[in-house]
Amino acid sequence: MMTGPKQDRGRAVGEPRVDDTSVDDNRAEDPTAEDREAMVAEIIAEVAATAGFLGKDRLDPRVLEALRKVPRHAFVPAWERPFAYENRPLPIGEGQTISQPYIVAIMTDLARIGAGDRVLEVGTGCGYQAAVLAELAAEVDSIERFPALAAAAAERLASLGYRNLRVRAGDGTRGWPEEAEDRAPRPYDAILVTAAAQGAVPEALIRQLAPGGRLVIPVERHPRDPAAQGFDLRVLWFGPEQDLLVLTKDAEGRVAEEKILPVAFVPLIAEAGAEET
Ligand code: SAM
Repeated sequence: MMTGPKQDRGRAVGEPRVDDTSVDDNRAEDPTAEDREAMVAEIIAEVAATAGFLGKDRLDPRVLEALRKVPRHAFVPAWERPFAYENRPLPIGEGQTISQPYIVAIMTDLARIGAGDRVLEVGTGCGYQAAVLAELAAEVDSIERFPALAAAAAERLASLGYRNLRVRAGDGTRGWPEEAEDRAPRPYDAILVTAAAQGAVPEALIRQLAPGGRLVIPVERHPRDPAAQGFDLRVLWFGPEQDLLVLTKDAEGRVAEEKILPVAFVPLIAEAGAEET
C-alpha cells in the first residue's frame, strides 16, 4: 500500500535535534507539527480510498491523535529526515525499514487498543510503532531480533520520554513468555507483529493473547524456502504476497481469523528451533 510521489512542501523536515522534540515539549512551538498534520491528512485519504478492504472509512480518532504526537523524524537516520513525514517506508539500517505511516495507522486501529491495555509488539525496528502504541496503551513490550536496533530504539524512546514501554532483543516468534506467564490468565490484550510470518501465525503468540485479545499480523501466502540460496523459485513464481490478518480470541479461547488487505513487509525470521517452544 504505497502512495505516489509526494509534493514538495517547501521545507526540509527534521532540522531539530532529537532532544528538541521530547514528548514533554511545548507542541505549539514544534516546527514539525504541520508536517505531521499533512501526513495524517494523507492517511485519512488513503483510509477512505481503501475502505472496501478495511470495512470502515475512518479510523479511531485516538489513533490519529497519537500519530499527530509522535515525532517520526526522530526515528529515522539523519539523511532520511527530509522524507520523515512522507507516507512511505524508509530504511533504518540492518536492511530493515520503518513502516509506512498508513500501515502503522491501520494496524494500530485494528488492534483496538484501550487505555488500560498491555500490548506486545514483535519487530521494534526503530521504535516508531512502539511509540504510537505507548501513546494509547497502559504498557507496551517490544521485541527486536537485531540487538543494535533494539538498543538504539530503547535509547531513543527513553530520550523521548516514553516510560510505559520496554524493548528487548530476541526472537519475537516466541513472544515474551516470562511476562505472559507472570500475567496469566490475562497476558497481552493486543499483539502487533510488524514483519511477515512465513505461512503460519506463531503458536506462542496466540497462546500469549488474552481472552478478548486481538493479534494483528502479516502472513506470507507462499513462505520462503529456508534452504533456498539467494532466490526462491516459489517466491519468483508466485511473488512475495502477504495478507494482513486480525486474529481475535474469545472468552472461551476460540480464535477467529479475518483477512484485511494485501501488504508488503520484511520477513519475520524465527531462530532455529523456535517453532518447538
Ligand atoms: N515496527 C517498526 C516501525 O515502527 O516502523 C517496523 C519494523 S520493520 C518493518 C520489521 C522488524 O521486525 C525489523 O526490524 C526486523 O529485524 C524485525 N524482526 C524480524 N523477525 C523478527 C523476530 N523473529 N523477532 C523480532 N523481530 C523481528
